[in-house]
Amino acid sequence: MIYFSKNPVGWIEVICGPMFSGKSEELIRRLKRAEIAKLRIQVFKPEIDDRYSTTHIVSHSDLKYKAEIVKNSEEIFKKVKPRTEVIGIDEAQFFDMGIVEICNKLAYLGKRVIVSGLDMDYRGIPFEPMPQLMAIAEIVTKLNAICSQCGAPAFYTQRKIPEGERIVIGDASIYEARCRRCFEPYMEGDGEKNDK
Ligand code: ADP
Ligand code: ZN
Repeated sequence: MIYFSKNPVGWIEVICGPMFSGKSEELIRRLKRAEIAKLRIQVFKPEIDDRYSTTHIVSHSDLKYKAEIVKNSEEIFKKVKPRTEVIGIDEAQFFDMGIVEICNKLAYLGKRVIVSGLDMDYRGIPFEPMPQLMAIAEIVTKLNAICSQCGAPAFYTQRKIPEGERIVIGDASIYEARCRRCFEPYMEGDGEKNDK
């Protein structure tokens, strides 16, 4: 892949994996390198994710990058400036399906779009719109965390509380990374609420 700023062709990069796999770290790393290349950058995150900061993307290792908070995918499109060359989007699984078309449009406009998000929910079910973004992306990076039970590579996000909602905002007190062997998608007390 050629990263010259004068290249008029845009593309989509997806960074995915479970919680704690380093998605935000990797997004921030790519954004910092784009900054070194003196590219014009804009970063977005959904309003729903206010775990650490309402002004920045923050990784679990406390790396930060300034971001604009948006309510939905359309707002991203409205806020992108014509001269912006690189667009970062964190926690993409919390956006509506419209984000797929918007990332496509931005790439067609010649922008490099870097999207980070959870590829599966707490039950191991593909988390829309990530599967669709992964399908249309030129580059997909799937990261792994370390299984909190056995130390193996972890690709799943284990929820530690019996709560049936698909979106429950939380951190290490509620979630941990697990490998396929240690992952337990069904918890006692979850009941029917777990039906998608
Ligand atoms: P993500 O965006 O995928 O949730 P982050 O980039 O925010 O991940 O955080 C990654 C960091 O989380 C790692 O560098 C490490 O410091 C920390 N961490 C905590 N628990 C784990 C784990 N089980 N496996 C790997 N890293 C972990
Ligand atoms: Zn394990």
